[in-house]
Amino acid sequence: MASVTRRGFVGSLSALAAAASMPARQAGNVSLPERRAGHVSIKITDLKCAIIGQNPVVRVVTDQGISGYGEAEGVKNYLKPMVMFYKQYLLGEDPTDVQRVMLKIRRMGAFKPWGAAVSAIEIALWDIAGQAAGVPVYKLLGGKIRDRVRAYDGAVRFPMHGQTPADYAENTQKIKESKEGFTLIKQAVGFHNPAMIEAVPDGWYDSPGRPGPGHPDRGLLTERGMEQIIACAEAMKKVLGDEVGLALDCGPGWMLKDAIAFARAVEPLHLAWIEDTLTGDYSVYPNAQVFKELTEATSTPIHTGEEIYLRENFKDLIENQAVNVIGPDPEDVGGIAELKWIAEYADLHSILVAPHGVFDGLIGLAAHVHLAATLPQNYIAFEYPIAQPEWWSEIVEGLPDPIMKKGFIDVWDAPGLGVRFNVQKAKARLRDEDRDFFD
Ligand SMILES: [Mg+2]
Repeated sequence: MASVTRRGFVGSLSALAAAASMPARQAGNVSLPERRAGHVSIKITDLKCAIIGQNPVVRVVTDQGISGYGEAEGVKNYLKPMVMFYKQYLLGEDPTDVQRVMLKIRRMGAFKPWGAAVSAIEIALWDIAGQAAGVPVYKLLGGKIRDRVRAYDGAVRFPMHGQTPADYAENTQKIKESKEGFTLIKQAVGFHNPAMIEAVPDGWYDSPGRPGPGHPDRGLLTERGMEQIIACAEAMKKVLGDEVGLALDCGPGWMLKDAIAFARAVEPLHLAWIEDTLTGDYSVYPNAQVFKELTEATSTPIHTGEEIYLRENFKDLIENQAVNVIGPDPEDVGGIAELKWIAEYADLHSILVAPHGVFDGLIGLAAHVHLAATLPQNYIAFEYPIAQPEWWSEIVEGLPDPIMKKGFIDVWDAPGLGVRFNVQKAKARLRDEDRDFFD
């Protein structure tokens, strides 16, 4: 606990100092004590984690009555012990010095799924910093450059009835007609869709199987397999026309020569991007050199990056212009400020950014909105998460209703992430082992 006495009064956050000169104010449900500029003291007193539904939720507790929340992907309900590992490094720290806290813990994370705990904590720290300063998180990330942010379909999905071009067309039509009014839709094909691999058994020379969790390993396409994927892409684009963009999540698992052939074949479709062909989701290396060969061989935009942890691991992809679009997930890359930094650096290299987020939950959605409001003009859209299970929409307050209008979300101005738990309703959803989460 030496760090507690060493810290004393800390007020390095300029926005915090500015807010401190104002009268006591409300931040969410929390009444803040009066603060004098430059004499603000706030310390982390606890770190908690609960699995709510399927999503790990992180709560950083402070001695000023403010709690910050972060979330990890709903597919990582095993994450709680990993989150709690960091508690020893957080206690006594000033949560509004986000960067200093992150320097203590960022080295002890890794590519997806092991960067998720660090990322959720980072988001919770920003939530506290915003509430303490009485400003929305986007102000602390540099301020917004847009009042509404674009998202693509992500978790808004409908059951596929088969794997033929007609099935893809029908399914895409349903997403196009959904009430959210998406202007960009992403669909899964090839190695990203195991059902397609099973439905076209002679589409792959070496049936890749599933050696472990995540996606199939790698494999070489047959001519029939290649034609099947191209036909499905054409059928979807016919449905969307030039009104709605189409992106394809394709892998990982393609061989370079197949990826080049496919990317060239779909050039007339003007796709928004093809994602994770070579490596990607749950790969533990970025493979910049081989991506560069693919990117230089086609005009179809090449995308990767949802599994990558920290800015350092985007360096080769960005500096070599190895891809056209990067898709880090704020809940895996190390948090929202980490993603902001990467997006700014990508922009210097004319690389676009479309953050991943399909399983990020509603707190994750709030983090995406604040982040996207501040990203430079290389921003395309983030991947839209929804309330899963549906009762999540009853336990979180502060989101717009409806959340999305015509494919965009209006940025809100409440302090911090601007979303709060309805504690009474949320408590009823806690698992037995997490009963004290809100205490
Ligand atoms: Mg993906």
